[in-house]
Amino acid sequence: MYDLAIIGGGPGGYVAAIRGAQQGLKVILVEKNSLGGTCLNRGCVSTKCFIYDAKLLEAAKTSQVLTGAEALSIDLGKMVARKRQVVKTLVSGLGKIIQSHGIDVVHGLGELIAPGRIRVGAIGGSTKEYEARHVILASGSKPAVPAFIEVDGHYIQTTDEALDSEDIPGSLVIIGGGAIGLEMAYIYRTLGCEVTVLELLSDIIINEEVEIRRAMRILMEQRGVKINLNAKVKEVAVHNEKVEVTYEDETDQAQTLRAGRVLVATGRKPVLEGIDAEKLGLNSEGPFIKVNARLETSLPAVYAIGDVIGGMMLAHKASAEGEAAVANILGAKKGVKPDLIPRCIWGFTEIGAVGITEEEARAMGRPINVGKFHYMNSAAAQTIEDVNGLVKIVGDTDTGEILGVHIIGAHATDLIGEAVLAMTTESAVEELAAAIRPHPTLSETVMEGAMDWSGLAIHSPKKR
Ligand code: FAD
Repeated sequence: MYDLAIIGGGPGGYVAAIRGAQQGLKVILVEKNSLGGTCLNRGCVSTKCFIYDAKLLEAAKTSQVLTGAEALSIDLGKMVARKRQVVKTLVSGLGKIIQSHGIDVVHGLGELIAPGRIRVGAIGGSTKEYEARHVILASGSKPAVPAFIEVDGHYIQTTDEALDSEDIPGSLVIIGGGAIGLEMAYIYRTLGCEVTVLELLSDIIINEEVEIRRAMRILMEQRGVKINLNAKVKEVAVHNEKVEVTYEDETDQAQTLRAGRVLVATGRKPVLEGIDAEKLGLNSEGPFIKVNARLETSLPAVYAIGDVIGGMMLAHKASAEGEAAVANILGAKKGVKPDLIPRCIWGFTEIGAVGITEEEARAMGRPINVGKFHYMNSAAAQTIEDVNGLVKIVGDTDTGEILGVHIIGAHATDLIGEAVLAMTTESAVEELAAAIRPHPTLSETVMEGAMDWSGLAIHSPKKR
């Protein structure tokens, strides 16, 4: 009898397994594919490898001091091979870490038969049942493709296929202007492909600050990406080695685009293979498994975490939920507050954001001040020739509570960690401003933004 059985070895499941073992639980982890899940094998790591390579090329080509850089290009085969090697290194390292904690890893399809009972159909065909006092479902997500689109893996792809392709089409239509669509747009555009983004909603990355969205759109358009908003895709079909995408534009007129390839980035849906919610009496919320604030499902001693429960589909959210679920199994009453989960995007530039936006705070009737700092005024940003950026701090005027921090610009995805730390430790905006930052670094932009919240930024012109 195990203390804890986990279905799914992604950043939710494997973190829960390690944390459980560290706390003395006897843990079994079931994974049907490769340890590390979407994130390690076909998500976070693959995209960031490609974005790093694309950035190298872009930095060289736009450098004011390098000569001969115009002739540089990326070897696609090597780029994909490097990514595969990074994934291999990380997956194998993860396997060793998990093994070192004495966790039993079973490779196969895990099935929840009843609370406390799982069955694993091993790769070789045999099946075996296991009992555990607690179960965590961490089966993750897969691309959600509209029913009228048929992914053929070549002309019509999702990121699963795109991140393993060794060729770049001359033109690409990306359906979906969320974080994944934008990161892929950057990779393809930098590799010389004509990119058009079709977004159903009135803006790309709709959950981010208006100012940040606008800045991102401008940057993308400056780099030659076409963005069509309020575009409702109706049909995607392959004709004569091209894909035709028909959509209704904002005036309800039918438009057709022809491209070498289409990437469908229209969101993700839960993986529920082996989890028959209806048969088990497991409550759902839309397509996702329903949990309460402590990550408990409707079944006794069965928890669910990560992408399979919906919300922000991010690796660090899945991991935080994994830790919280284990804490709860051990008697705590922990949840993961959405307002403390950072949201990050890489590519054309970086976005790092946490908490609520200025508009949301105003709509809630909170008395707020907004502090801002432009990268243009940062010595560090000038030294790295990346002055296009903004830090925005939204804080409660009466209490100094930090409600949201929104950063667009170089290294925003690292900088946002400062804000998350401050918000997690319930520091006030003044404390975020008071900590001494090394000079010249981009961390000073967060300090100055927080200073500006009180009207006291040093490296900004006096406000009228
Ligand atoms: P998953 O990582 O999907 O893992 C679930 C695992 O469960 C899988 O390995 C699957 O094989 C296994 N499984 C499912 N059912 C069973 C079963 N019945 N039996 C056994 N095993 C099973 N997030 C970020 O935070 N930062 C990023 O930069 C980022 N970039 C991304 C880029 C792309 C292209 C994509 C697609 C996603 C990206 N994400 C990113 C999201 C991130 O990958 C997911 O949020 C994260 O992987 C979710 O973790 P999880 O453990 O819930 O599920």
